[in-house]
Amino acid sequence: MAGNRTFTMIKPDAVGAGNTGAIIKMIEEAGFKIVAMKKTYMSKERAGQFYAVHKERPFYQDLTNYMSSGPIVPMILEKDNAVEDFRKLIGATNPQDAAEGTIRKLFAKSIEANAIHGSDSDENAEIEGRFFFADVEKF
Ligand code: UDP
Ligand code: MG
Repeated sequence: MAGNRTFTMIKPDAVGAGNTGAIIKMIEEAGFKIVAMKKTYMSKERAGQFYAVHKERPFYQDLTNYMSSGPIVPMILEKDNAVEDFRKLIGATNPQDAAEGTIRKLFAKSIEANAIHGSDSDENAEIEGRFFFADVEKF
């Protein structure tokens, strides 16, 4: 059975462009409840840990430099079928391929600076949520 939580973070391009509020509004209007949220930073080392699954990929160095370049807004979200429904709301990784009306179509600048993260499985949602909110049981 699909879980009811996912993890997201608004990335430095979207936070820097002043789109945090507009993105949160879209997330809430799509029926997701914000369980936990903060504005914070990742060091290059922490960004490397978060994206460790991609460490052999050619974009890894650029990605971890970018993800540590400015503030981010990580969140744990709740909704039925959360992981799949949230991936639909954000759209494809490359904004050129993202469907009309998706967050990445509206706000992403490039395949790298693509505005927002969304977990790809229930298991990763749990791991990624704990990466930022160690005390999530309280929420
Ligand atoms: N990324 C990139 N170049 C690529 C593919 C991905 O810079 O060719 C970045 C992009 O920011 C993406 C992140 O790496 O969101 C993680 O890649 P993944 O394939 O997991 O995409 P996502 O799950 O975020 O859609
Ligand atoms: Mg991914």
